[in-house]
Amino acid sequence: MQLTFLGAAGTVTGSKYLLEGGGKRILVDCGLFQGLKELRLRNWEAPPVDPRTLDAVVLTHAHLDHSGYLPRLVREGFAGPVWCTPGTRDLVRILLPDSAHLQEEDARYANKRGFSKHRPALPLYTLEDVEASLALIRTAVYDEVVEIGGLRVRFTPAGHMLGSACVRVEDAHTDVTFSGDVGRPHDPLFEPPRPLRDVRNLVVESTYGDRRHPPSDPAAQLADVVRRVVARGGVVMIPAFAVGRSQQILLQIAQLKAAGEIPDVPVFLNSPMAIDAMEVFLEHPDEHRLTPAACEAMRDVASWVRTPEESKALNLRREPMILLAGSGMITGGRILHHLEAFGPDPRNALVLVGYQAAGTRGQALDNGAEEVKIHGEYVPIRAERARIDGLSGHADYAELCDWLRSVEAPPRRVFVTHGDPTASDAFRRHLSDRLGWKAHIPRHGERVELD
Ligand SMILES: [Zn+2]
Repeated sequence: MQLTFLGAAGTVTGSKYLLEGGGKRILVDCGLFQGLKELRLRNWEAPPVDPRTLDAVVLTHAHLDHSGYLPRLVREGFAGPVWCTPGTRDLVRILLPDSAHLQEEDARYANKRGFSKHRPALPLYTLEDVEASLALIRTAVYDEVVEIGGLRVRFTPAGHMLGSACVRVEDAHTDVTFSGDVGRPHDPLFEPPRPLRDVRNLVVESTYGDRRHPPSDPAAQLADVVRRVVARGGVVMIPAFAVGRSQQILLQIAQLKAAGEIPDVPVFLNSPMAIDAMEVFLEHPDEHRLTPAACEAMRDVASWVRTPEESKALNLRREPMILLAGSGMITGGRILHHLEAFGPDPRNALVLVGYQAAGTRGQALDNGAEEVKIHGEYVPIRAERARIDGLSGHADYAELCDWLRSVEAPPRRVFVTHGDPTASDAFRRHLSDRLGWKAHIPRHGERVELD
């Protein structure tokens, strides 16, 4: 088997691994490069492998840095199939159309401003490309074996998000396991990642390869800020990441209310994407760890706000409430008009619940910015800022090493990917110190023979 690293080598985005063996060529993950412009430009280069020569794509999970290049691959001639778990299929049905919408908006904006070298500027892909991609998806449940020519592919639970999987591929000679993104051992929503046993070759992520998650109690942090803000008659604004973390926060709010830890104020889930994700979550009871009663509590604790009119009407309410609205880093979405309405009042609070990338309003506000530009106007922000830590969907390096201890014999080869260069290198050393494994950090484009 030959393995070529076409993404997530030296960076955390753009996951793409070409695997050739058993007479077939498959791509494991088909992610979009995100973040710095230099990386994003890679999405526009000719596909790193002729899409017409691929026999299948296999997705570890739905996040765009693992699935978001698929519509471009299809636009360039890939004809399927795409294999993933049922949960992943239902989440890419939400995430890919939204991604196409953003691509189309970027192109429109570039045309309006006239700053693209191409006239007219075209989107990376359109909704039509997304629809063509979704039609190619076929699903396999955990542990089911999918045969692609002489390759046997199997998904096992990775605990990172709904439907997330580690992918094991074997041919007649050898095998390789792709960790995908690996979740934490005590996630409130998901079972821990399934231990791996028999692994000859391993490709492992290293997002938190140089960091430990601080010991923290997210529920206590949330309860503190809600009590404080409600006591002074304010509104709690939570910019929500649609998939995963908003479900977790709603579950916590439901549990805190039931325990009498926070007052029974109204809660609004004001994000059509988060609402769709919630429905997917409720439809896949076998892909998360919540009991039916916990699911019901999570679903019923918030009013679901779908229309823009209902969304705007929330700004006229004056009594304490909790608002969850997209987007998670305040780069767009309905949180913007809530921030315009409630940001200037110091009785209110803005509660950040996840990673805030450089250059986003979320990061500026996290760093104490006193005003932000919204819809072309500067808005003074006097609302309290708070952060809730410990909601990450990624294992840290110690958790990853503990998870890998279950592997029966040291793999012949270990490749560390999906990390910033310092994180990947730190993780390489942790693997050596803690497990005695020798690991390699592949370059972008590197090709290796597996045996
Ligand atoms: Zn992910």
